[in-house]
Amino acid sequence: MALTISEILEKEAFTRGNIITLLKSTGEDRTSLFKKSAEIKEEYIGKKVWFRGLIEFSNICSKDCLYCGIRKGNSNIARYNLSDEEILSAARFAYINRYGSIALQSGELESPFVTGRIEYLLHKIKELSNGELGVTLSVGEQEPDVYKRWYDAGAHRYLLRVEATNSSLYSKIHPDDSKHDFNRRLKCLKSLQDIGYQTGTGVMIGLPFQTMDDLAGDLLFMKSFNIDMCGMGPYIEHADTPLIEHTENLLPITDRFDLTLKMIAIIRIMMKDINIVAATALQAIDPIGREKAVRIGANILMPNITPGKYRESYKLYDNKPCTDDSAEDCQSCLEARVSLADAEVIYDEWGDSKHYRERISRQMI
Ligand code: SAM
Repeated sequence: MALTISEILEKEAFTRGNIITLLKSTGEDRTSLFKKSAEIKEEYIGKKVWFRGLIEFSNICSKDCLYCGIRKGNSNIARYNLSDEEILSAARFAYINRYGSIALQSGELESPFVTGRIEYLLHKIKELSNGELGVTLSVGEQEPDVYKRWYDAGAHRYLLRVEATNSSLYSKIHPDDSKHDFNRRLKCLKSLQDIGYQTGTGVMIGLPFQTMDDLAGDLLFMKSFNIDMCGMGPYIEHADTPLIEHTENLLPITDRFDLTLKMIAIIRIMMKDINIVAATALQAIDPIGREKAVRIGANILMPNITPGKYRESYKLYDNKPCTDDSAEDCQSCLEARVSLADAEVIYDEWGDSKHYRERISRQMI
């Protein structure tokens, strides 16, 4: 006999079928799911939220992901690459405003020049902040020795979304070539974990061709991979990408939003002490989307501190919010929003994943 939602929520571990039932929940069942995930967040993380000042330092990308607005093949955007001084001055802003951490994100490029440049910037960021600013990198697939050089230079967290864990779905949303190889993405995640990074991954939710079974598989993958951080968000169309032709087959945008909240709630229950990002894409759909995510399980926010003039060009999807704000606007707006979500921003702390600390201390026993 099928279990009720309350029975599922009492279980130690969820099966694929349990997760699908939770993803499909409505009405009081859905409320029970969110209540449970909020309770777990309160117990394991508290009401705390940490900032990662997000510096989208370049939209130049060698890849052609079929969903992404900054894909190589999109000739309708102006390409930019912040100067070292612009990046360091954004990092200084985060340090002075006591953010605790920054996240450096860009399109994907692999070259000795990029490796050396990021290594140099990491040293400089540590120098300007007396070693106090934490740094997350999100610059895509690289060779293990490159990840190691950046780790040694001071990066300690890495976010590499796997995007979709069903390899056949992965191949439908990426070009079929060696630059977009699902197995390499997995290998990269593994080498990040082996090197010692706090390792984060995630998927897009509501992609064309994606099923509830795929989403359940994504969550089971994250659990079995033992990730430390999770960043997932709704898929939102971009007019200048090949996937736009599948718009008619997509779930309505509000359903994609609701599914994302459910995915966050379920992963919070499955992996109680990981860090979970409230993705900016949630706010593109609902003005208080990120706050809703914080209420039901997320504990990380990424205020955009990229210099304003470049933001319009880092449009991964249509209607990306805050592209005409400044870094100061982002901070005051987010702080007010966090208190609306009955949470509190913690300044001057790295806000490391508790899961990572426990994982490492277990390895040392
Ligand atoms: N290229 C780096 C990487 O893959 O790690 C980081 C930059 S990439 C633009 C950041 C993330 O944007 C991707 O991992 C993807 O999940 C998300 N993204 C791209 N296009 C999107 C879209 N149309 N809707 C929602 N998220 C999107």
